[in-house]
Amino acid sequence: MSEAEPIAFIGLGMMGLPMASRLVASGFDVRGADLSEASRAAFAAAGGRAVETASEAVSGASMVVTMLPNAAIVADVLVGSGGAAASLPPGALVVDMSSSAPFKTRELGDKLAKRGVGLIDAPVSGGVSRAKEGTLAIMAGGDSAAIERARPVLSAMGKSIFVTGLLGSGHAMKALNNYVSASGLVAACEALMVGRAFGLDAETIVDVLNVSTGRNNSTETKLKPFVVSESFASGFAIGLMAKDIRTAADLADELGLPASEMSQSAALWEQAAQMLGKGADHTEIYRYLASPRQ
Ligand code: NAD
Repeated sequence: MSEAEPIAFIGLGMMGLPMASRLVASGFDVRGADLSEASRAAFAAAGGRAVETASEAVSGASMVVTMLPNAAIVADVLVGSGGAAASLPPGALVVDMSSSAPFKTRELGDKLAKRGVGLIDAPVSGGVSRAKEGTLAIMAGGDSAAIERARPVLSAMGKSIFVTGLLGSGHAMKALNNYVSASGLVAACEALMVGRAFGLDAETIVDVLNVSTGRNNSTETKLKPFVVSESFASGFAIGLMAKDIRTAADLADELGLPASEMSQSAALWEQAAQMLGKGADHTEIYRYLASPRQ
């Protein structure tokens, strides 16, 4: 992939904007599209070329990156009502970096292959701060030659790139990661809530957890800045987290596995998203857990 070849980037939200901006800063020629005018303006301010529709963005592009809310929207933009894939030349490659659903990704791969267009899944972990730094963890699934073709683009956005296997395996890995991450956050929030009610100081609880065996990513990076401070501003919506855990639970179902914690976790996060609103920050799960709802 030469840096002169135009890349289309669809979805300039909390994650897509800093990721596409990293590509621009690394010298790639990026045309970005988003439904939101404010997102397009922010991308133009970062030096990118902002266009209104996905079809405009992909026209003449040899590579398309999608960073959209879910698998259904990715499919709709490319091969559904958006129909953007019709503007792609044969030989083009779509890199879905959204947290989508593995079996839906395989269906999309079949549809794109009929048009001579390749697909790999390359979802990310690390959140908005690591998207801004270009240090995301990326888990890439699909044809290995296609992954190598995308590697320079992925390297501009991420620090560790894991090749996870067949198409959809990155999306499976991402959903499983977020299930584990969400469970760590719920455990940390419940410990904080109960400890506080007993009279322990919140800062002390977090400090002890962080040098003890209860330490996890949420105790280290989420409790103090987003929960104890009550800023609830991590930049990752609760509706997206609920979607990811449901993806993990569905995967277990589809594989015939009895992962009861996963399905309970999916139900809990869906109820929380319903109560708080899908756009609430996922760290507001603390407010849900602390609410007198039973
Ligand atoms: P977001 O809601 O901030 O951004 C999504 C963007 O897609 C929005 O700007 C929206 O306007 C745009 N969009 C929606 N439908 C569109 C369409 N049909 N055509 C063009 N644009 C459209 O979400 P986000 O937090 O940036 O997350 C994007 C993806 O990355 C999700 O799959 C999410 O689960 C995943 N993710 C998010 C984080 C995080 O910390 N926020 C971390 C890792 C992965």
